Amino acid sequence: MTSTDRDAPPAPLVELRSDTFTLPTARMLAEMTRAPLGDDVYGEDPTARELEELAAELLGMEDACFMPSGTMGNLAALLAHCPRGTKVLAGAESDIYVYEAGGASYCGGVIVEPVANRADGTMALADIEAAFPEDPDDPQFALPALLCVENPQNRCGGRVLPLEYLAEVRALARARGVAVHLDGARIFNAALALGVPVSVIAGYADSVQFCLSKGLSAPVGSMVAGSAEFVRSVRRIRKMLGGGMRQAGVLAAAGLVALREMTARLGDDHARAGRLAAGLAALPGAVVEPVETNMVFFRVDAPGLSQARFIERAWEEGVRLAELGRGRIRAVTHAGVDDADVDRALAVFHSLLVPQTAAA
Ligand SMILES: *Cc1c(COP(=O)(O)O)cnc(C)c1O
Repeated sequence: MTSTDRDAPPAPLVELRSDTFTLPTARMLAEMTRAPLGDDVYGEDPTARELEELAAELLGMEDACFMPSGTMGNLAALLAHCPRGTKVLAGAESDIYVYEAGGASYCGGVIVEPVANRADGTMALADIEAAFPEDPDDPQFALPALLCVENPQNRCGGRVLPLEYLAEVRALARARGVAVHLDGARIFNAALALGVPVSVIAGYADSVQFCLSKGLSAPVGSMVAGSAEFVRSVRRIRKMLGGGMRQAGVLAAAGLVALREMTARLGDDHARAGRLAAGLAALPGAVVEPVETNMVFFRVDAPGLSQARFIERAWEEGVRLAELGRGRIRAVTHAGVDDADVDRALAVFHSLLVPQTAAA
């Protein structure tokens, strides 16, 4: 390190690509060193069990299972719900359909059938209905066994599905005899936006997956919750997939802090996303989508500045962004982004989008 490096520290990085970049808090790291541990595959890790009980209680479900990732959580849930050869109906923009490497088809012989998502994240009920065969006795057709909803819907802009819509989806599923799985990776953000406890949202589903590792800042982990029988099945599938973790309490300890201490601060992320969106919308060449949670989706349409170049220039200025979801840019606020970071990002966006007047 030269003296020049010390004299001119680099501008702090503003990481807006994802809330998965959140780092464990000091409290999490401390709890990880003193958590009581056991072998969780034997069912003897008290900290993992405590986390599972707390998650189940918060969601109003009978039981929950600690998973290494949201992807494995969704996969285990799909396999637990669906016999081979059945269909899972999931949004064409859903994480399950787009980002989970076709796991349910590969591992479970399940067909994941995409149903179009509208801009607000919902799927039209008529489009869901259309995925059910007219004649279920006709042996040509694979039968749906599960309907998946994602709330908030990430690729549609972090949009929040309203409770009335969830009620309609549940009624449709009940009428058709299929279960509902909620991919609630960011369910605490949805609950905040809707002004209800997470249990109210979970109440419209038979099973729920949510992530500890995103806005809640835990380093690793997701929870899958549902009936006791369902969770028993998820636990067996988790082992089959290689997700049985021995002293899982080391990680669960961080998850407990996430649930106890990190949900209350999500309002800061939503407020900062709102401020980022409003500031962006005031700039020429930025087309900003509605913001309901901690995500701002926008396009850049400025003369002489391609979107790719905008992202590249922002990176050079220390503001990390990425394209996500059909040519839009996603900026996500989280515990690693404070008010000054929002100001800094807006200043960079301003410098890139507002035509510079001749320098003095
Ligand atoms: C992140 C995410 C997942 C997957 O979680 P991982 O822990 O990254 O595997 C699933 N669904 C949604 C909606 C997500 O945002």
